[in-house]
Amino acid sequence: MQNHLPAGPVPVEASAGPLRDLGYTGAVQLTAGPLADRLGHAAQVYGGLSLDSVLKGFRERAGLPAPGDGLKGWSRETTEPTFGQWVSGLARLSRVLGDPALAARAVDLVEGYAATLPASGATGMGIYGWEKLVCGLVDLAAYAGYGDGLTLLSKIVQAEDFDESRRVPTGNDFGGAGPAFTPEWYTLPENLYQGYLASGDEVLAEYARRWHYDAYWDRFLTRPERGQRWDVPVWLHAYSHVNTLASAGAVYDVTHDPRYLTILANAHDFMTGTQVYATGGYGPMELTVPDDGTLGRALEWRNDTAEIVCGTWAVFKLGSKLITETGEARYLRWAENLLWNGLHTVTPVQPNGLSPYYSDYRLGWARKLPYWEEWPCCSGTYVQAVAHIPDLVYHAADDGITVSLFVPSRVQWQEGDQTVTLEQRTGLPETSQTELRIGTGRPAEFTLRARLPEWSDHTTVEVNGEPVLRTAQSGQWAVLRREWQDGDTVRLRFDCALRAEPVDSFHPSRVALAFGPVVLAQDASWAAPFSAPVPWEMDEWESFLKRKGDSLVFDAVTPGTARMATGSFRPLYEVPENVPYRVYHDLDRPRII
Ligand SMILES: [Zn+2]
Repeated sequence: MQNHLPAGPVPVEASAGPLRDLGYTGAVQLTAGPLADRLGHAAQVYGGLSLDSVLKGFRERAGLPAPGDGLKGWSRETTEPTFGQWVSGLARLSRVLGDPALAARAVDLVEGYAATLPASGATGMGIYGWEKLVCGLVDLAAYAGYGDGLTLLSKIVQAEDFDESRRVPTGNDFGGAGPAFTPEWYTLPENLYQGYLASGDEVLAEYARRWHYDAYWDRFLTRPERGQRWDVPVWLHAYSHVNTLASAGAVYDVTHDPRYLTILANAHDFMTGTQVYATGGYGPMELTVPDDGTLGRALEWRNDTAEIVCGTWAVFKLGSKLITETGEARYLRWAENLLWNGLHTVTPVQPNGLSPYYSDYRLGWARKLPYWEEWPCCSGTYVQAVAHIPDLVYHAADDGITVSLFVPSRVQWQEGDQTVTLEQRTGLPETSQTELRIGTGRPAEFTLRARLPEWSDHTTVEVNGEPVLRTAQSGQWAVLRREWQDGDTVRLRFDCALRAEPVDSFHPSRVALAFGPVVLAQDASWAAPFSAPVPWEMDEWESFLKRKGDSLVFDAVTPGTARMATGSFRPLYEVPENVPYRVYHDLDRPRII
Protein backbone atom coordinates (compact mmCIF):
# COMPACT_ATOMS: atom_id res chain seq x y z
CA MET A 1 0.00 0.00 0.00
CA GLN A 2 2.79 2.39 0.91
CA ASN A 3 3.92 2.44 -2.71
CA HIS A 4 0.69 4.07 -3.78
CA LEU A 5 0.89 6.94 -1.36
CA PRO A 6 1.53 10.36 -2.86
CA ALA A 7 4.39 12.46 -1.52
CA GLY A 8 4.07 13.46 2.12
CA PRO A 9 2.66 10.98 4.60
CA VAL A 10 -0.70 11.67 6.20
CA PRO A 11 -0.10 12.14 9.93
CA VAL A 12 -2.15 10.39 12.56
CA GLU A 13 -2.63 12.13 15.89
CA ALA A 14 -4.45 11.41 19.14
CA SER A 15 -5.60 14.96 19.83
CA ALA A 16 -6.89 17.66 17.54
CA GLY A 17 -6.54 20.29 20.26
CA PRO A 18 -9.60 22.00 21.69
CA LEU A 19 -12.69 21.64 19.52
CA ARG A 20 -16.03 23.41 19.34
CA ASP A 21 -19.54 21.98 19.19
CA LEU A 22 -21.42 22.51 15.94
CA GLY A 23 -24.70 20.68 16.48
CA TYR A 24 -26.59 23.51 18.14
CA THR A 25 -25.42 26.16 15.70
CA GLY A 26 -27.71 24.65 13.07
CA ALA A 27 -24.67 23.80 10.93
CA VAL A 28 -25.24 20.03 10.94
CA GLN A 29 -28.13 18.22 9.28
CA LEU A 30 -28.67 14.50 9.41
CA THR A 31 -29.75 13.31 5.98
CA ALA A 32 -31.92 10.37 4.98
CA GLY A 33 -31.50 7.43 7.29
CA PRO A 34 -32.81 5.88 10.48
CA LEU A 35 -31.22 8.46 12.80
CA ALA A 36 -32.74 11.36 10.85
CA ASP A 37 -36.06 9.51 11.11
CA ARG A 38 -35.61 9.29 14.87
CA LEU A 39 -35.19 13.07 15.12
CA GLY A 40 -38.27 13.62 12.98
CA HIS A 41 -40.32 11.20 15.08
CA ALA A 42 -39.24 12.85 18.34
CA ALA A 43 -40.22 16.26 16.92
CA GLN A 44 -43.67 14.88 16.10
CA VAL A 45 -44.26 13.22 19.47
CA TYR A 46 -42.91 15.95 21.75
CA GLY A 47 -44.02 18.81 19.51
CA GLY A 48 -47.46 17.21 19.43
CA LEU A 49 -47.95 17.04 23.20
CA SER A 50 -51.16 18.79 24.23
CA LEU A 51 -50.44 21.98 26.14
CA ASP A 52 -53.51 21.45 28.30
CA SER A 53 -52.50 17.87 29.13
CA VAL A 54 -48.94 18.77 30.05
CA LEU A 55 -50.05 21.69 32.24
CA LYS A 56 -53.16 20.10 33.75
CA GLY A 57 -51.64 19.01 37.05
CA PHE A 58 -49.81 22.32 37.58
CA ARG A 59 -53.03 24.25 36.89
CA GLU A 60 -55.06 22.08 39.26
CA ARG A 61 -52.47 22.56 41.96
CA ALA A 62 -52.75 26.35 41.48
CA GLY A 63 -56.55 26.25 41.55
CA LEU A 64 -56.78 27.39 37.93
CA PRO A 65 -59.11 26.05 35.23
CA ALA A 66 -57.51 22.85 33.92
CA PRO A 67 -59.24 21.67 30.75
CA GLY A 68 -58.35 18.49 28.88
CA ASP A 69 -57.13 15.07 29.95
CA GLY A 70 -54.07 14.61 32.11
CA LEU A 71 -51.18 12.33 31.26
CA LYS A 72 -50.56 8.94 32.84
CA GLY A 73 -47.83 7.10 34.69
CA TRP A 74 -45.10 9.28 36.18
CA SER A 75 -47.12 12.30 34.95
CA ARG A 76 -50.41 11.27 36.57
CA GLU A 77 -50.37 14.07 39.18
CA THR A 78 -48.25 16.62 37.37
CA THR A 79 -45.58 16.40 34.68
CA GLU A 80 -43.01 17.60 37.23
CA PRO A 81 -40.63 14.61 36.86
CA THR A 82 -39.80 15.36 33.21
CA PHE A 83 -41.41 18.72 32.34
CA GLY A 84 -38.12 20.63 32.20
CA GLN A 85 -36.50 17.96 30.03
CA TRP A 86 -39.32 18.11 27.49
CA VAL A 87 -38.80 21.89 27.32
CA SER A 88 -35.05 21.37 26.95
CA GLY A 89 -35.53 18.70 24.28
CA LEU A 90 -37.94 20.81 22.25
CA ALA A 91 -35.59 23.81 22.39
CA ARG A 92 -32.67 21.65 21.29
CA LEU A 93 -34.67 19.94 18.53
CA SER A 94 -35.86 23.28 17.21
CA ARG A 95 -32.26 24.37 16.83
CA VAL A 96 -30.92 21.22 15.19
CA LEU A 97 -33.91 20.80 12.88
CA GLY A 98 -34.25 24.53 12.14
CA ASP A 99 -37.91 24.32 13.18
CA PRO A 100 -39.08 27.46 15.05
CA ALA A 101 -42.47 25.85 15.77
CA LEU A 102 -40.79 23.50 18.24
CA ALA A 103 -39.19 26.42 20.08
CA ALA A 104 -42.56 28.20 20.14
CA ARG A 105 -44.12 25.10 21.66
CA ALA A 106 -41.43 25.03 24.37
CA VAL A 107 -42.07 28.70 25.12
CA ASP A 108 -45.83 28.03 25.36
CA LEU A 109 -45.16 25.27 27.86
CA VAL A 110 -42.98 27.49 30.05
CA GLU A 111 -45.33 30.47 29.90
CA GLY A 112 -48.25 28.19 30.70
CA TYR A 113 -46.31 26.78 33.61
CA ALA A 114 -45.20 30.22 34.84
CA ALA A 115 -48.86 31.26 35.00
CA THR A 116 -49.41 28.57 37.66
CA LEU A 117 -46.67 29.90 39.95
CA PRO A 118 -47.29 32.15 42.95
CA ALA A 119 -45.75 35.64 42.91
CA SER A 120 -42.89 34.36 45.07
CA GLY A 121 -41.72 31.91 42.39
CA ALA A 122 -41.85 29.01 44.85
CA THR A 123 -42.49 26.00 42.64
CA GLY A 124 -43.41 23.50 45.33
CA MET A 125 -41.51 20.92 43.28
CA GLY A 126 -39.28 18.22 44.68
CA ILE A 127 -35.58 18.60 44.01
CA TYR A 128 -35.63 15.99 41.21
CA GLY A 129 -38.18 17.76 39.00
CA TRP A 130 -36.90 21.20 39.97
CA GLU A 131 -33.41 20.37 38.70
CA LYS A 132 -34.94 19.45 35.34
CA LEU A 133 -37.00 22.65 35.30
CA VAL A 134 -33.74 24.59 35.72
CA CYS A 135 -32.35 22.71 32.73
CA GLY A 136 -35.42 23.54 30.63
CA LEU A 137 -35.20 27.25 31.40
CA VAL A 138 -31.48 27.42 30.67
CA ASP A 139 -31.86 25.53 27.40
CA LEU A 140 -34.85 27.60 26.35
CA ALA A 141 -32.67 30.68 26.65
CA ALA A 142 -29.65 29.04 25.01
CA TYR A 143 -31.33 27.29 22.08
CA ALA A 144 -34.58 29.18 21.57
CA GLY A 145 -33.37 32.68 22.48
CA TYR A 146 -36.01 33.02 25.20
CA GLY A 147 -34.34 35.42 27.64
CA ASP A 148 -37.39 35.52 29.90
CA GLY A 149 -36.48 31.94 30.82
CA LEU A 150 -33.44 33.27 32.69
CA THR A 151 -35.53 35.87 34.51
CA LEU A 152 -37.89 33.13 35.64
CA LEU A 153 -34.90 31.00 36.57
CA SER A 154 -33.48 33.69 38.88
CA LYS A 155 -36.86 34.00 40.51
CA ILE A 156 -37.40 30.32 41.19
CA VAL A 157 -33.85 29.91 42.52
CA GLN A 158 -34.24 32.82 44.93
CA ALA A 159 -37.50 31.30 46.16
CA GLU A 160 -35.99 27.86 46.74
CA ASP A 161 -34.56 26.47 49.94
CA PHE A 162 -34.22 22.70 49.73
CA ASP A 163 -33.22 20.84 52.85
CA GLU A 164 -29.42 20.52 52.73
CA SER A 165 -29.00 17.75 55.26
CA ARG A 166 -28.66 15.34 52.33
CA ARG A 167 -26.43 12.29 52.58
CA VAL A 168 -23.59 11.13 50.45
CA PRO A 169 -25.00 8.13 48.54
CA THR A 170 -24.23 4.67 49.90
CA GLY A 171 -25.31 1.16 49.09
CA ASN A 172 -28.61 1.46 50.94
CA ASP A 173 -29.32 5.02 49.74
CA PHE A 174 -27.91 4.81 46.25
CA GLY A 175 -29.22 8.16 45.03
CA GLY A 176 -28.59 10.11 48.24
CA ALA A 177 -32.33 10.62 48.83
CA GLY A 178 -32.21 10.73 52.63
CA PRO A 179 -33.09 12.13 55.04
CA ALA A 180 -35.31 14.83 53.46
CA PHE A 181 -36.00 13.17 50.09
CA THR A 182 -33.52 15.06 47.96
CA PRO A 183 -32.59 12.26 45.50
CA GLU A 184 -29.81 12.92 42.98
CA TRP A 185 -29.05 16.29 44.62
CA TYR A 186 -25.54 16.00 43.18
CA THR A 187 -26.88 16.73 39.66
CA LEU A 188 -27.91 20.29 40.62
CA PRO A 189 -24.73 22.26 39.86
CA GLU A 190 -24.74 21.49 36.11
CA ASN A 191 -27.67 23.59 35.02
CA LEU A 192 -27.43 26.18 37.79
CA TYR A 193 -23.89 26.98 36.63
CA GLN A 194 -24.97 27.02 32.97
CA GLY A 195 -27.71 29.44 34.00
CA TYR A 196 -25.15 31.57 35.82
CA LEU A 197 -22.87 31.62 32.76
CA ALA A 198 -25.81 32.63 30.57
CA SER A 199 -27.25 35.28 32.90
CA GLY A 200 -24.42 36.43 35.17
CA ASP A 201 -26.75 36.04 38.15
CA GLU A 202 -24.47 35.25 41.13
CA VAL A 203 -27.39 33.78 43.05
CA LEU A 204 -27.37 30.81 40.69
CA ALA A 205 -23.65 30.18 41.13
CA GLU A 206 -23.95 30.50 44.90
CA TYR A 207 -26.77 27.98 45.00
CA ALA A 208 -24.87 25.63 42.69
CA ARG A 209 -21.86 25.73 45.00
CA ARG A 210 -23.88 24.25 47.83
CA TRP A 211 -24.48 21.01 45.93
CA HIS A 212 -20.98 20.02 44.83
CA TYR A 213 -20.34 16.29 45.14
CA ASP A 214 -16.67 16.43 46.11
CA ALA A 215 -16.99 13.19 48.08
CA TYR A 216 -17.43 11.36 44.78
CA TRP A 217 -15.76 13.62 42.22
CA ASP A 218 -12.49 13.77 44.18
CA ARG A 219 -12.16 9.98 44.07
CA PHE A 220 -11.24 10.42 40.41
CA LEU A 221 -8.36 12.82 40.99
CA THR A 222 -5.92 9.92 41.02
CA ARG A 223 -5.72 6.77 38.95
CA PRO A 224 -4.92 3.39 40.49
CA GLU A 225 -1.31 2.24 40.61
CA ARG A 226 -0.37 -0.48 38.17
CA GLY A 227 -2.11 -3.71 39.07
CA GLN A 228 -4.38 -1.98 41.60
CA ARG A 229 -8.10 -1.38 41.33
CA TRP A 230 -9.91 1.98 41.34
CA ASP A 231 -10.60 3.36 44.80
CA VAL A 232 -14.13 4.47 43.95
CA PRO A 233 -17.29 3.66 45.93
CA VAL A 234 -19.79 1.41 44.14
CA TRP A 235 -23.36 0.09 44.57
CA LEU A 236 -24.47 3.63 43.72
CA HIS A 237 -27.17 4.78 41.31
CA ALA A 238 -25.43 4.32 37.98
CA TYR A 239 -27.00 6.86 35.63
CA SER A 240 -26.94 9.77 38.06
CA HIS A 241 -23.34 8.97 38.96
CA VAL A 242 -22.39 9.57 35.34
CA ASN A 243 -24.81 12.48 35.09
CA THR A 244 -23.14 14.20 38.05
CA LEU A 245 -19.99 14.41 35.95
CA ALA A 246 -21.79 17.06 33.89
CA SER A 247 -21.92 19.05 37.12
CA ALA A 248 -18.18 18.60 37.61
CA GLY A 249 -17.79 19.76 34.00
CA ALA A 250 -19.86 22.85 34.75
CA VAL A 251 -17.61 23.65 37.72
CA TYR A 252 -14.74 23.56 35.22
CA ASP A 253 -16.62 25.93 32.91
CA VAL A 254 -16.93 28.43 35.75
CA THR A 255 -13.57 28.01 37.52
CA HIS A 256 -11.25 26.63 34.77
CA ASP A 257 -9.68 24.54 37.52
CA PRO A 258 -7.97 21.69 35.62
CA ARG A 259 -8.70 19.24 38.43
CA TYR A 260 -12.25 18.97 37.13
CA LEU A 261 -11.06 17.84 33.69
CA THR A 262 -8.90 15.23 35.40
CA ILE A 263 -12.01 14.04 37.23
CA LEU A 264 -13.96 13.72 33.99
CA ALA A 265 -11.18 11.93 32.14
CA ASN A 266 -10.51 9.46 34.94
CA ALA A 267 -14.21 8.83 35.58
CA HIS A 268 -14.57 8.07 31.86
CA ASP A 269 -11.79 5.49 32.11
CA PHE A 270 -13.17 4.01 35.34
CA MET A 271 -16.60 3.56 33.79
CA THR A 272 -15.46 2.17 30.44
CA GLY A 273 -12.92 -0.05 32.16
CA THR A 274 -15.08 -1.55 34.91
CA GLN A 275 -18.81 -0.83 34.41
CA VAL A 276 -19.68 -1.07 30.75
CA TYR A 277 -21.27 -3.86 28.71
CA ALA A 278 -20.41 -4.45 25.05
CA THR A 279 -23.15 -2.01 24.02
CA GLY A 280 -21.83 0.82 26.19
CA GLY A 281 -24.80 0.29 28.55
CA TYR A 282 -24.06 0.17 32.26
CA GLY A 283 -25.65 -0.21 35.66
CA PRO A 284 -27.36 -3.58 36.17
CA MET A 285 -30.35 -2.91 38.43
CA GLU A 286 -29.27 0.75 38.06
CA LEU A 287 -26.16 0.09 40.20
CA THR A 288 -22.49 0.68 39.79
CA VAL A 289 -20.73 -2.56 40.68
CA PRO A 290 -17.42 -3.67 42.14
CA ASP A 291 -14.76 -4.83 39.70
CA ASP A 292 -15.01 -8.43 40.89
CA GLY A 293 -17.12 -10.17 38.24
CA THR A 294 -20.44 -8.72 39.38
CA LEU A 295 -20.95 -7.19 35.94
CA GLY A 296 -20.86 -10.62 34.32
CA ARG A 297 -22.78 -12.39 37.08
CA ALA A 298 -25.61 -9.87 36.85
CA LEU A 299 -26.42 -11.35 33.44
CA GLU A 300 -27.57 -14.56 35.14
CA TRP A 301 -30.20 -13.00 37.28
CA ARG A 302 -31.59 -9.60 36.29
CA ASN A 303 -33.10 -8.32 33.05
CA ASP A 304 -32.85 -4.62 33.95
CA THR A 305 -29.29 -4.68 32.66
CA ALA A 306 -28.88 -1.03 31.70
CA GLU A 307 -31.04 2.11 32.09
CA ILE A 308 -30.33 2.71 28.49
CA VAL A 309 -31.86 6.06 27.54
CA CYS A 310 -30.90 8.10 30.60
CA GLY A 311 -27.56 6.31 30.56
CA THR A 312 -26.99 7.32 26.94
CA TRP A 313 -27.81 10.96 27.65
CA ALA A 314 -25.26 11.17 30.45
CA VAL A 315 -22.57 9.62 28.23
CA PHE A 316 -23.39 11.92 25.31
CA LYS A 317 -22.81 14.91 27.59
CA LEU A 318 -19.58 13.46 29.02
CA GLY A 319 -18.29 12.57 25.56
CA SER A 320 -19.07 16.03 24.18
CA LYS A 321 -17.33 17.70 27.09
CA LEU A 322 -14.19 15.56 26.87
CA ILE A 323 -13.89 15.73 23.09
CA THR A 324 -14.25 19.51 22.97
CA GLU A 325 -11.86 20.15 25.85
CA THR A 326 -9.16 17.64 24.88
CA GLY A 327 -9.72 16.96 21.17
CA GLU A 328 -8.86 13.31 21.86
CA ALA A 329 -10.65 11.06 19.39
CA ARG A 330 -10.88 8.19 21.87
CA TYR A 331 -13.56 10.01 23.83
CA LEU A 332 -16.03 9.49 21.00
CA ARG A 333 -16.07 5.72 21.26
CA TRP A 334 -18.40 5.30 24.25
CA ALA A 335 -20.92 7.78 22.85
CA GLU A 336 -20.77 6.14 19.42
CA ASN A 337 -21.31 2.73 20.99
CA LEU A 338 -24.38 3.93 22.85
CA LEU A 339 -25.68 5.68 19.76
CA TRP A 340 -25.84 2.45 17.74
CA ASN A 341 -26.27 -0.14 20.48
CA GLY A 342 -28.19 1.87 23.07
CA LEU A 343 -30.33 4.73 21.83
CA HIS A 344 -30.83 3.34 18.34
CA THR A 345 -31.92 -0.09 19.64
CA VAL A 346 -34.96 1.25 21.49
CA THR A 347 -38.51 1.76 20.31
CA PRO A 348 -39.08 5.52 20.24
CA VAL A 349 -41.16 7.16 22.97
CA GLN A 350 -44.80 6.90 21.91
CA PRO A 351 -47.45 9.67 22.00
CA ASN A 352 -49.20 7.83 24.85
CA GLY A 353 -46.02 8.02 26.95
CA LEU A 354 -44.88 4.42 26.66
CA SER A 355 -41.11 4.66 26.72
CA PRO A 356 -38.02 2.54 26.53
CA TYR A 357 -36.14 2.23 29.81
CA TYR A 358 -34.07 -0.90 30.48
CA SER A 359 -32.02 -2.82 27.96
CA ASP A 360 -32.07 -6.53 28.68
CA TYR A 361 -28.93 -8.62 28.09
CA ARG A 362 -29.83 -11.51 30.36
CA LEU A 363 -28.32 -14.84 29.41
CA GLY A 364 -30.58 -17.33 27.70
CA TRP A 365 -33.52 -15.17 26.73
CA ALA A 366 -34.05 -11.44 26.65
CA ARG A 367 -36.41 -9.03 24.92
CA LYS A 368 -37.22 -5.37 24.43
CA LEU A 369 -40.15 -4.09 26.44
CA PRO A 370 -41.45 -0.59 27.14
CA TYR A 371 -41.35 0.57 30.74
CA TRP A 372 -44.42 -0.41 32.74
CA GLU A 373 -45.52 3.15 33.42
CA GLU A 374 -45.95 6.03 30.97
CA TRP A 375 -43.65 9.08 30.84
CA PRO A 376 -40.76 7.82 33.01
CA CYS A 377 -37.40 9.54 33.46
CA CYS A 378 -36.27 8.08 30.15
CA SER A 379 -39.04 10.00 28.34
CA GLY A 380 -37.24 13.15 29.50
CA THR A 381 -33.77 12.10 28.45
CA TYR A 382 -34.95 10.45 25.21
CA VAL A 383 -35.75 13.73 23.47
CA GLN A 384 -32.58 15.38 24.81
CA ALA A 385 -30.37 12.49 23.66
CA VAL A 386 -31.96 12.28 20.21
CA ALA A 387 -31.59 16.04 19.74
CA HIS A 388 -27.91 15.73 20.67
CA ILE A 389 -26.99 13.25 17.90
CA PRO A 390 -26.01 15.90 15.29
CA ASP A 391 -23.69 17.51 17.83
CA LEU A 392 -21.59 14.33 17.96
CA VAL A 393 -21.02 13.96 14.21
CA TYR A 394 -18.69 16.91 13.48
CA HIS A 395 -16.58 19.32 15.51
CA ALA A 396 -14.93 22.58 14.59
CA ALA A 397 -11.17 22.98 15.03
CA ASP A 398 -9.22 26.21 14.76
CA ASP A 399 -7.77 24.98 11.47
CA GLY A 400 -10.74 23.09 10.02
CA ILE A 401 -13.24 20.36 10.74
CA THR A 402 -13.40 16.88 12.26
CA VAL A 403 -15.49 13.97 11.03
CA SER A 404 -16.20 12.42 14.40
CA LEU A 405 -18.96 9.89 13.67
CA PHE A 406 -20.06 8.12 10.51
CA VAL A 407 -23.65 9.10 9.88
CA PRO A 408 -25.36 10.35 6.69
CA SER A 409 -25.23 14.10 7.15
CA ARG A 410 -24.15 17.49 5.93
CA VAL A 411 -22.18 20.22 7.68
CA GLN A 412 -21.25 23.75 6.72
CA TRP A 413 -18.79 26.17 8.24
CA GLN A 414 -16.84 29.34 7.49
CA GLU A 415 -13.32 29.19 6.08
CA GLY A 416 -12.17 32.79 5.85
CA ASP A 417 -14.87 34.66 4.00
CA GLN A 418 -16.53 31.68 2.37
CA THR A 419 -18.88 28.92 3.40
CA VAL A 420 -17.59 25.39 2.94
CA THR A 421 -19.81 22.31 3.00
CA LEU A 422 -19.05 18.69 3.60
CA GLU A 423 -21.53 16.00 2.72
CA GLN A 424 -21.12 12.57 4.27
CA ARG A 425 -22.69 9.62 2.48
CA THR A 426 -22.56 6.30 4.20
CA GLY A 427 -24.48 3.10 4.59
CA LEU A 428 -22.79 2.35 7.90
CA PRO A 429 -23.19 0.19 9.86
CA GLU A 430 -24.35 -2.14 7.05
CA THR A 431 -21.55 -1.03 4.72
CA SER A 432 -17.95 -0.53 5.80
CA GLN A 433 -17.14 2.78 4.19
CA THR A 434 -18.09 6.41 4.22
CA GLU A 435 -17.62 9.12 1.59
CA LEU A 436 -16.99 12.78 2.32
CA ARG A 437 -17.56 15.30 -0.43
CA ILE A 438 -16.31 18.87 -0.18
CA GLY A 439 -18.31 21.78 -1.55
CA THR A 440 -16.55 25.12 -1.92
CA GLY A 441 -16.97 28.10 -4.23
CA ARG A 442 -13.20 28.72 -4.38
CA PRO A 443 -10.34 26.45 -3.34
CA ALA A 444 -10.06 26.47 0.45
CA GLU A 445 -7.15 25.43 2.64
CA PHE A 446 -8.12 23.68 5.83
CA THR A 447 -7.50 20.52 7.83
CA LEU A 448 -9.98 17.70 7.63
CA ARG A 449 -9.52 15.26 10.50
CA ALA A 450 -11.21 11.91 10.09
CA ARG A 451 -11.61 9.68 13.12
CA LEU A 452 -10.00 6.25 12.90
CA PRO A 453 -12.53 4.12 14.74
CA GLU A 454 -11.63 1.43 17.28
CA TRP A 455 -13.85 -1.18 15.59
CA SER A 456 -11.90 -1.12 12.32
CA ASP A 457 -8.85 -3.43 12.14
CA HIS A 458 -7.35 -1.29 9.40
CA THR A 459 -8.65 1.94 7.95
CA THR A 460 -7.81 3.11 4.46
CA VAL A 461 -8.17 6.76 3.53
CA GLU A 462 -8.47 7.76 -0.12
CA VAL A 463 -8.52 11.26 -1.57
CA ASN A 464 -10.10 11.46 -5.03
CA GLY A 465 -9.63 7.72 -5.42
CA GLU A 466 -5.94 7.70 -4.42
CA PRO A 467 -5.03 5.86 -1.21
CA VAL A 468 -3.16 8.24 1.10
CA LEU A 469 -3.15 6.21 4.31
CA ARG A 470 -3.68 2.68 5.45
CA THR A 471 -3.32 2.18 9.17
CA ALA A 472 -4.12 -0.16 12.03
CA GLN A 473 -4.10 2.78 14.42
CA SER A 474 -7.42 3.72 15.95
CA GLY A 475 -8.93 6.06 18.50
CA GLN A 476 -7.00 8.81 16.67
CA TRP A 477 -7.39 11.25 13.81
CA ALA A 478 -6.12 10.97 10.25
CA VAL A 479 -5.02 14.52 9.48
CA LEU A 480 -5.62 15.71 5.92
CA ARG A 481 -4.38 19.24 5.34
CA ARG A 482 -4.47 20.64 1.84
CA GLU A 483 -6.09 23.12 -0.46
CA TRP A 484 -9.45 21.55 -1.14
CA GLN A 485 -11.26 21.98 -4.44
CA ASP A 486 -14.98 21.84 -5.00
CA GLY A 487 -15.99 18.19 -5.45
CA ASP A 488 -12.93 16.71 -3.75
CA THR A 489 -13.86 13.39 -2.24
CA VAL A 490 -12.42 11.54 0.73
CA ARG A 491 -13.34 7.92 1.21
CA LEU A 492 -12.72 5.93 4.40
CA ARG A 493 -12.73 2.16 4.06
CA PHE A 494 -12.96 0.15 7.25
CA ASP A 495 -11.85 -3.46 7.65
CA CYS A 496 -14.34 -5.01 10.03
CA ALA A 497 -14.42 -8.56 11.32
CA LEU A 498 -16.56 -10.45 13.76
CA ARG A 499 -15.22 -10.14 17.27
CA ALA A 500 -16.11 -11.39 20.74
CA GLU A 501 -16.13 -9.10 23.76
CA PRO A 502 -15.95 -10.79 27.18
CA VAL A 503 -18.24 -9.13 29.71
CA ASP A 504 -15.42 -8.83 32.27
CA SER A 505 -12.05 -10.38 33.06
CA PHE A 506 -13.71 -12.83 35.46
CA HIS A 507 -15.84 -14.33 32.68
CA PRO A 508 -13.49 -14.72 29.70
CA SER A 509 -15.91 -16.95 27.80
CA ARG A 510 -19.10 -14.99 28.54
CA VAL A 511 -19.08 -12.85 25.42
CA ALA A 512 -21.13 -10.64 23.15
CA LEU A 513 -20.45 -10.73 19.41
CA ALA A 514 -19.96 -7.55 17.47
CA PHE A 515 -19.16 -6.45 13.93
CA GLY A 516 -17.89 -2.96 13.26
CA PRO A 517 -19.76 -0.56 15.54
CA VAL A 518 -22.67 -2.98 15.94
CA VAL A 519 -23.43 -5.45 18.72
CA LEU A 520 -25.17 -8.53 17.39
CA ALA A 521 -28.11 -10.34 18.96
CA GLN A 522 -28.88 -13.99 18.38
CA ASP A 523 -32.39 -15.15 17.60
CA ALA A 524 -33.61 -16.90 20.76
CA SER A 525 -37.15 -17.78 19.72
CA TRP A 526 -37.11 -21.57 19.69
CA ALA A 527 -33.50 -21.51 18.58
CA ALA A 528 -30.44 -23.14 20.10
CA PRO A 529 -27.73 -21.05 21.80
CA PHE A 530 -24.32 -20.51 20.28
CA SER A 531 -21.14 -22.03 21.62
CA ALA A 532 -17.57 -22.31 20.39
CA PRO A 533 -14.40 -24.16 21.30
CA VAL A 534 -12.47 -22.68 24.21
CA PRO A 535 -10.09 -20.92 24.29
CA TRP A 536 -12.00 -19.08 21.63
CA GLU A 537 -9.14 -16.68 20.90
CA MET A 538 -7.62 -19.52 18.87
CA ASP A 539 -10.28 -19.41 16.19
CA GLU A 540 -11.56 -17.16 13.43
CA TRP A 541 -15.19 -16.36 13.97
CA GLU A 542 -15.83 -16.67 10.26
CA SER A 543 -15.42 -20.45 10.60
CA PHE A 544 -18.46 -20.54 12.93
CA LEU A 545 -20.66 -17.82 11.52
CA LYS A 546 -21.27 -17.06 7.85
CA ARG A 547 -22.34 -13.59 6.78
CA LYS A 548 -25.46 -13.55 4.64
CA GLY A 549 -24.58 -11.50 1.55
CA ASP A 550 -24.07 -7.82 2.32
CA SER A 551 -26.41 -7.84 5.30
CA LEU A 552 -25.34 -7.90 8.93
CA VAL A 553 -27.06 -11.26 9.39
CA PHE A 554 -24.75 -14.11 10.37
CA ASP A 555 -25.86 -17.75 10.28
CA ALA A 556 -24.26 -20.33 12.52
CA VAL A 557 -22.35 -23.05 10.69
CA THR A 558 -23.13 -25.58 13.45
CA PRO A 559 -26.63 -26.95 13.07
CA GLY A 560 -27.85 -27.03 16.69
CA THR A 561 -30.20 -29.90 17.46
CA ALA A 562 -32.77 -31.63 15.29
CA ARG A 563 -35.46 -29.78 17.19
CA MET A 564 -33.76 -26.39 17.36
CA ALA A 565 -31.48 -24.82 14.78
CA THR A 566 -28.77 -22.57 16.15
CA GLY A 567 -30.21 -19.07 16.03
CA SER A 568 -28.77 -16.60 13.56
CA PHE A 569 -27.34 -13.21 14.52
CA ARG A 570 -28.39 -9.72 13.46
CA PRO A 571 -27.82 -6.21 14.83
CA LEU A 572 -29.49 -5.70 18.21
CA TYR A 573 -31.11 -2.57 16.77
CA GLU A 574 -32.98 -4.68 14.21
CA VAL A 575 -34.70 -6.89 16.78
CA PRO A 576 -38.34 -5.81 17.22
CA GLU A 577 -40.04 -5.45 20.60
CA ASN A 578 -41.09 -8.71 22.21
CA VAL A 579 -38.93 -10.96 20.02
CA PRO A 580 -36.56 -13.08 22.13
CA TYR A 581 -32.83 -12.59 21.61
CA ARG A 582 -29.50 -13.21 23.28
CA VAL A 583 -26.74 -10.61 23.52
CA TYR A 584 -24.40 -12.63 25.77
CA HIS A 585 -23.31 -16.24 25.31
CA ASP A 586 -21.42 -18.69 27.49
CA LEU A 587 -19.19 -20.13 24.79
CA ASP A 588 -17.89 -22.92 27.01
CA ARG A 589 -21.28 -24.12 28.25
CA PRO A 590 -23.37 -25.32 25.34
CA ARG A 591 -26.87 -25.95 26.67
CA ILE A 592 -30.49 -25.75 25.62
CA ILE A 593 -32.10 -25.26 29.02
ZN1 LIG B 1 -34.35 6.76 32.89
